[in-house]
Amino acid sequence: MDTDVLISGGGIAGLTLALKLVSQGVRVTLLEKRVRESVMYKGELLQPKSIEILDRLGVLPAVLAQGWRIPRTLIYERTRSAKGANGAGLPAALDYEVLPEPYNYALMIPHDSLKAIVLAPALQSGLLRFLRPAQIVRMGERRGEVMLSVGGEQVPLRASFLIGAEGKFSAFRESIDVAVKKQQYNHQFFTVTIGRPESLRDATVISEGGRFIGLFPLPDNKVRTVLMLRKGDYQRLKGEGIGAFHREYAQLAPMLREHVEQLQDWQEIQLMVPLRLEAERYVNSACVLIGDAAHSVHPMAGEGMNMAIQDADILGSLLAWMVRSGKHDEATLQWFERIRKPRAMFVSALSHMSALAYSYPIGMAHAIRAHTIRTIAKHPYLMKRYMVNISGLGMAKETLVDRVMQMGLWSPDRVPNTLQTPIDWFSEETDYPWLYQ
Ligand SMILES: Cc1cc2nc3c(=O)[nH]c(=O)nc-3n(C[C@H](O)[C@H](O)[C@H](O)COP(=O)(O)OP(=O)(O)OC[C@H]3O[C@@H](n4cnc5c(N)ncnc54)[C@H](O)[C@@H]3O)c2cc1C
Repeated sequence: MDTDVLISGGGIAGLTLALKLVSQGVRVTLLEKRVRESVMYKGELLQPKSIEILDRLGVLPAVLAQGWRIPRTLIYERTRSAKGANGAGLPAALDYEVLPEPYNYALMIPHDSLKAIVLAPALQSGLLRFLRPAQIVRMGERRGEVMLSVGGEQVPLRASFLIGAEGKFSAFRESIDVAVKKQQYNHQFFTVTIGRPESLRDATVISEGGRFIGLFPLPDNKVRTVLMLRKGDYQRLKGEGIGAFHREYAQLAPMLREHVEQLQDWQEIQLMVPLRLEAERYVNSACVLIGDAAHSVHPMAGEGMNMAIQDADILGSLLAWMVRSGKHDEATLQWFERIRKPRAMFVSALSHMSALAYSYPIGMAHAIRAHTIRTIAKHPYLMKRYMVNISGLGMAKETLVDRVMQMGLWSPDRVPNTLQTPIDWFSEETDYPWLYQ
């Protein structure tokens, strides 16, 4: 059995890479160890850059048909001084519409629907061999050789490139001797999808003191919710019974009461344990790591799935070009790491900072966070930079001057142009430089 590219892992990273490759005439074998999809919730928020990539792959109409557009995120910070008629004060709006059209919105879509949309055209191409249940049993002696288990049978395979897209607990990563740095957090989340009141149409984050709930509308009158838990909360709530869980929701988001009360079984509620993980390198010989196997980030900024899609897009272009031009050397493959690693580390740091902002239930921390968010939302210069960074469309590095502005200590209107750093927008030339040399 021979193939151009072997991908281990049929998550969103592996599937997007498969589609990108077959759309450029590359033969792909994709292994997925699970017989059927897991019931675990995973990423559902597509950022603008991912929407652009899915558009180029020709699947955006299907994604839009099954998704819910998010033009903005409303952030309610309930402090003693900011209680309005609705009990939550006026929200700060973080607005995707400040980004250039046409990719100036985010989109919520059930994870499995997105995977099915990406898989269908890849299979139709006739160039994808999708094996499940299948996995690598061991690496061979020679470069590109592996022994697979396919439905319990051992099958040898040779590929020009081997890709590990197995998620955060990747065996492939271990087998190619890549070390990881791990960081844990002082909190966890409950996450569950429930019915959505008609009035809840924007992504909405409500926080009060040390508590936090995020509400992300889905189609079919559903909403994906995440509730932050402090140390000890999980045991306490479970000990008190499901009514305690309903109460937590209803206190932060009263409009959800009747929907959340329909949940009567803890098994319907998923515990999400955030973990930050960074692989020391992404490329080793003919092997490459992508998606959560290379970098897993705190979910606060909704970036993990998007980073996986962005990896797949850039690696897919590089591999297709290498296959076309008969290049198989590691030095050329290193292009992927040179482009993606700094971007992934930047987004990982951003997600980490967002997590820290909600990590400490201290009044002072809350007041600083609320003030910073309001300041960003008020000034177009700060808002644009913030939205570019989460969109994936570019990078606006934050300097000390930016931080001073975000804290409201220096108005962006008064900061001289020379101290304002430009935004690095990503383009085809920066994403796929091998096509332009
Ligand atoms: C509850 C939750 C909420 C999240 N919310 C968001 C969000 O809103 N926005 C966002 O961008 N991200 C979010 N994320 C993160 C996002 O889901 C992940 O970053 C993304 O799924 C990573 O994709 P992946 O393909 O790299 O890995 P995975 O999705 O983990 O896929 C890996 C695949 O590889 C398979 N596999 C594993 N080992 C092997 C093996 N040895 N052989 C063959 N196959 C194997 C697995 O079965 C799986 O199908 C969330 C994650 C969770 C858990």
